[in-house]
Amino acid sequence: MLKVNAFQPEQAEALDAAERSLIERRQRLLGPAYQLFYDNPLHLVRGAGTWLYDRAGRAYLDLYNNVASVGHSHPRVVEALARQAGELNTHTRYLHEGVLDYAEKLLATMPAALGNVMFTCTGSEANDLALRIARDYTGGTGVIVTRYAYHGMTSAIAELSPSVGDYVPLGRDIRVVDAPLHVPEDPQRVGQVFAAQVRAALADMHRHGIRPAALLVDTLFTSDGVFADPPGFLCEAVEAVRAAGGLFIADEVQPGFGRTGTHMWGFERHGLVPDLVTLGKPMGNGHPLAGLTVRPQILERFGRNASYFNTFGGNPVSAAAGLAVLQVIEDEGLQENARRVGAQLKEGLEGLAREHACLGQVRGAGLFIGADVVDGEGSADGPTARRITNLLRDEGMLIGVSGAQNNALKIRPQLCFSAENVEQFLGALQRVLRQL
Ligand code: PMP
Repeated sequence: MLKVNAFQPEQAEALDAAERSLIERRQRLLGPAYQLFYDNPLHLVRGAGTWLYDRAGRAYLDLYNNVASVGHSHPRVVEALARQAGELNTHTRYLHEGVLDYAEKLLATMPAALGNVMFTCTGSEANDLALRIARDYTGGTGVIVTRYAYHGMTSAIAELSPSVGDYVPLGRDIRVVDAPLHVPEDPQRVGQVFAAQVRAALADMHRHGIRPAALLVDTLFTSDGVFADPPGFLCEAVEAVRAAGGLFIADEVQPGFGRTGTHMWGFERHGLVPDLVTLGKPMGNGHPLAGLTVRPQILERFGRNASYFNTFGGNPVSAAAGLAVLQVIEDEGLQENARRVGAQLKEGLEGLAREHACLGQVRGAGLFIGADVVDGEGSADGPTARRITNLLRDEGMLIGVSGAQNNALKIRPQLCFSAENVEQFLGALQRVLRQL
């Protein structure tokens, strides 16, 4: 997954001397593990709202970066960060109101059963901690994830993130199920088929003497290609896991913070109350802030026996940024904007899919959309998805690619994306599709 739409060094020939030299410098200093996006990598120097600007001053409409979710360099978040950084920054081993004010406000957005929140710096750490807590509480080790899931980069989480690739083997206690179906004509089937797979995974664990700890899913299945509907389809699978003694961990790193439009959290679309919820990416609008919420009874023994400290997690500056993000979402009506503008974007994409045979299913909720690129036979066409993504980049429109076959256009703009932005994007996509 990390190599999808990645720049290949052989493409350097086509670039100008200044970019080539920057790429060489980067390669020399950062080594071979990092990837750049696009055949022609972007060199961005500034962002504002839904726009990014490159070194030459060219503007790009951002439909990819869900981290700066309330808008690039949002002045209220920047002001909150600067004010707190100018006053004090320490950690969670001193008393401070900031982290508690933020904790209260964040917990108030979730079902009351999720009564505790813990802070980390990355989504990977949040999932890692959630896994430790789930394993401690259940006494089990088994985890069920989807076939092309991504949950993070720590050793324990990379080995349950199949999309990281074959080079990182899955752990022996991990079981993989297929991503949900997308069959609007038979919505009942989605939950039934997904739950049947989860039950089979639980049976296989049992057979191998593995006790289940958790079902861990991104509630919009975003790296699997974005599978949102019908709301509620997750319930039967969660019931099966709980009946077997496991917990339900909702990874809200991608769907959370109002992105689905109808709800603040992806799990709410399913009418579920998870046992643990992991958070990240948009939480600090670019400042490294992540964490988890949990039912207090599940945390009780782990907290008492293991303790937890994360030097940077939950520091006063992070808390100030997190609080400002929640206030902006509320004050600017961004969840409602995601619902309204997301519906317009999805409708526009469905229109283009009717016109252009290479666009297949359009799926998603709010401002998170996956649109399949298919060949003449209707099969996944990853190379064309890559081409579309690169042509859009040349049009000044930034999207990504997702899904096990790398053929779903991943479209997830800032929550402040406007109706005008939708028209700008659809116009560019129309031009690109005509060019193919
Ligand atoms: N969970 C999901 C669903 C993610 O998409 C990501 C990051 N792409 C993570 C967890 C890990 O977050 P981080 O990169 O902050 O460690």
